[in-house]
Amino acid sequence: MPITDIESLDHKSFLIIKNARQNNLKGISLAIPQQKLTVITGVSGSGKSSLAFDTLYAEGQRRYVESLSAYVRQFMGKINKPAVDYIRGLSPAVAIQQKVNTNNPRSTVGTATEIYDYLRLLYARIGKTYSPESGELVQRDTIDSVVRELLTLPTGNKVIIATAIVRNAERSWPEELNIILQKGFNRLYFNQRVTFIEDILAFINGGETWNDIADEKLTIKKTDKLLDAAYLLIDRLSIEPDNEEIASRMADSVQTAFFEGMGNCVVINLDNELTPKLLFSDKFEKDGIEFLQPTVNLFTFNNPYGACKVCEGFGSVIGIDEDKVIPDKNISVYDGAVAAWRGESMNEYKEEFISKASPLGFPIHRPYNELSKEERLWLWNGKRGCPAIKQFFAYLESKTYKIQYRVLLARYKGKTKCMDCEGTRLRIEASYVKIASKSISDLVDVQCNELKNWFDELKPKLSDTDYAIAQRILTEIDNRLTFLIDVGLGYLSLNRAARTLSGGESQRIQIVTSLGSNLTGALYILDEPSIGLHSRDTEKLITVLRRLQRLGNTVLVVEHDEDVMRQADEVVDIGPGAGTLGGHLTFQGNLEQLLADKDNLTAQYLTGAMSVAIPEKRRPALNFIEFKNCDKNNLKGFDVKFPLNCISVVTGVSGSGKSSLMKEVVMPLMRDAIEKRNPQVVASKLSGSYKKVIKMEFIDQDPIGKSSRSNPVTYMKAFDAIRDLYSKQPSSKQRGFTPAYFSFNVDGGRCDVCKGEGIQTIEMQFMADVEMICENCNGARYKSEVLEVKYQNLNIADVLKLTVAEAITFFAEHKDIISNIMPLQKVGLGYLHLGQPSIHLSGGEAQRIKLAVYLQKINNPEPILFIFDEPTTGLHFHDINTLMESMYALIDNGHTVIIIEHNLDVIKTADWLVDLGPEAGDEGGNLVYQGVPEGLLKIKDSHTGKYLKDKLKP
Ligand code: ADP
Ligand code: ADP
Ligand code: ZN
Ligand code: ZN
Repeated sequence: MPITDIESLDHKSFLIIKNARQNNLKGISLAIPQQKLTVITGVSGSGKSSLAFDTLYAEGQRRYVESLSAYVRQFMGKINKPAVDYIRGLSPAVAIQQKVNTNNPRSTVGTATEIYDYLRLLYARIGKTYSPESGELVQRDTIDSVVRELLTLPTGNKVIIATAIVRNAERSWPEELNIILQKGFNRLYFNQRVTFIEDILAFINGGETWNDIADEKLTIKKTDKLLDAAYLLIDRLSIEPDNEEIASRMADSVQTAFFEGMGNCVVINLDNELTPKLLFSDKFEKDGIEFLQPTVNLFTFNNPYGACKVCEGFGSVIGIDEDKVIPDKNISVYDGAVAAWRGESMNEYKEEFISKASPLGFPIHRPYNELSKEERLWLWNGKRGCPAIKQFFAYLESKTYKIQYRVLLARYKGKTKCMDCEGTRLRIEASYVKIASKSISDLVDVQCNELKNWFDELKPKLSDTDYAIAQRILTEIDNRLTFLIDVGLGYLSLNRAARTLSGGESQRIQIVTSLGSNLTGALYILDEPSIGLHSRDTEKLITVLRRLQRLGNTVLVVEHDEDVMRQADEVVDIGPGAGTLGGHLTFQGNLEQLLADKDNLTAQYLTGAMSVAIPEKRRPALNFIEFKNCDKNNLKGFDVKFPLNCISVVTGVSGSGKSSLMKEVVMPLMRDAIEKRNPQVVASKLSGSYKKVIKMEFIDQDPIGKSSRSNPVTYMKAFDAIRDLYSKQPSSKQRGFTPAYFSFNVDGGRCDVCKGEGIQTIEMQFMADVEMICENCNGARYKSEVLEVKYQNLNIADVLKLTVAEAITFFAEHKDIISNIMPLQKVGLGYLHLGQPSIHLSGGEAQRIKLAVYLQKINNPEPILFIFDEPTTGLHFHDINTLMESMYALIDNGHTVIIIEHNLDVIKTADWLVDLGPEAGDEGGNLVYQGVPEGLLKIKDSHTGKYLKDKLKP
């Protein structure tokens, strides 16, 4: 029950909010327990975000800004404080929202979670470099390591410490030898004997017989050759393991050898005939290649030093697209895998490749996807005078003055993996560095599930020293991988580009980052973290939220998901309705108390007193659009079909392939068919009754407008009629105000200072911009003369402040206005203000506005295929009923709907289900089931089936 006497509570145990009035909140006061998991729920538009984000988080931000600097503080008087008497016990607030904030194409799952930072460190510290020539370990010898090795030789062995002489190219041998003499050395190890330099010089100068040195008479010329193989003798000693004096003399001599020989040292063991010579080098080289020392920067693709020079760290370039050149990877080169070599005029290139590569051992009859990596590179780049795809396209490039070649080239171009770094983003040298035979690029390529297993088995493969160095880094990596798997993202790989993630995925990545930071004593505010999560994964998410709380944080979750509500320590319900009908604290307490509250709407759905209705009869599936061989990303090449004029729902655990199927197969194929173009996706085929679909609309959660000028009433095109109405009022006519005068988008009637925005944006250095209400028009957006024009008793600025529901009553007599805004009411957005800037709308609201636009033209006789991506985002059980009514209206008017959805209340109402999986990533991508929902219950493998069972019970 709401705590009434909040004044007396201790702010160490409670976050206390007094009289919150932001947006639609009706002056509510409440106390949220500190360091607990609290869920805020209520119908959409009831005021949940107004409380969590616009009040609590905004105040947290404001206090943070206040603590910053004088420069920033000078603006503080103008920054709006949330409308609230006071908030006590507010800790630093961290908001984890849906928005995908990253536009940085180099940002990946690995960098966003910081796992990649630790991997870089790990590879820099304990990575071993292997020569790509011989595959052998590249090591730099140090004085210490040489001495240590020498001391392991059998006691008493006599050794010579020497160095290969590096002769200056401008000196003759006698000159060089004289210099060596001057430095104080007097012997060479020469022709397997120790010889005095003076003897050699005497021979060269005087031509004496030189029996001591060579068995035959030598000419000067031959001497030069022999000398090239001579070593400068530095020291002679015999091995005595426990003699410190010997060891220290050895160290001095090795140091001298490295110095005189520019980094080389040769040890000749006179007592070992098998391996008489040991070679050491203090340079990082092998097989004649000098290698780079592994450093953190070598593994950094955000930095010019580490980034691949060709793609600059993006991993992709505009080039020849593998998927377009080899559309069907199940066939062999012989059978025509290379699409560009098909057809009569190009066939000769295929013939040439086959005739040259086959004798060299290329398996021309093996399907492309079974070729080894080397064989694929061969087919692409050629080998030993055998021209391949690369040479073929280079030839086309050289002939682009011919139009047909240019057309041909364009057909195979696209954003492709950079062939230089093979998409790893790093310079090639980084791939020479390995840990337990894996390079850093190998690791970021695999799914995190597998990566975790690899790390679990790593310890025994490391030396004790390496393990000691790596231990702390390994713990950090392990923690974050565990979090990532726990939030249901184990199917992602670390190199997956962050901007290709869905809103829900990137939100959960932020949770992982927060957990990794080990911050305690903070207030975390999350906006529907269950978005994009299958029921199976929601349980894991709750564990993670718990962990965040147990670290000592207060966790506040705006959420509609039943399971999350059931697990919370405390539930806060805002309602009862939306907009002006909401904003009250309708419940606060634990779950048990909530279930006992018979009047509460949320409780009624939780207890089953109210529910989303299952249709009495499913619509018959008569005609289908069919998709053959769906094989993008993890999809395993199955066939699938969707009935026309029905509601189909695509389900499956996160990462099972739903988006891949819809966005990368179904939509592109349909779009090309509708626009009568050559299909871009060549591997999959479209068939069935697809020609009956005339248009396709994809309705996602992307914002509908990025400026504060776009708002629901302009988006619905209802503002034109309203402006018209205002220009017809007597006071307008008197002053000659045209409809344009009532626009905030063109000069005239709008405020000149803010240009009709109503707000002014102040750019802050180092910080997010700050928005302030325009001082000139006080946020009204218009000049005062315009505001004097009234219809009934409201001016144009007042109208923009009406909610949709209020406007419907206000404009009751104007059908043209009503018909344009009514659809907003129908999709459950009656609580929105007509002039609410689109940037303040949530993803779910934006999506429902787009749906409303289609409801306006619902009578359009052209059958449309509607595809929705999780339309229940932001919806309370009660709102789902309203949403489904709109969907049914689309069907009744002859359209077709496909919904990607996890919400069981939507799944159960489907006419047709397509379930993918059974698992995520590589273990997913199969068609588990298609048909009516009841049939799914019989499928053992389906996770969706397990959860749907309860919902389908009568
Ligand atoms: P919920 O989070 O429960 O869906 P909100 O807190 O977003 O609801 O919205 C509650 C009410 O406040 C709605 O009527 C909404 O139109 C209004 N509102 C939300 N944000 C703003 C804003 N920035 N300015 C004016 N009104 C707003
Ligand atoms: P769902 O929509 O069911 O959550 P997705 O279709 O997004 O699943 O993902 C299915 C699999 O395909 C996952 O393993 C995912 O990592 C992979 N995948 C999806 N999109 C891409 C992409 N753009 N690049 C690489 N892999 C992707
Ligand atoms: Zn590259
Ligand atoms: Zn202004």
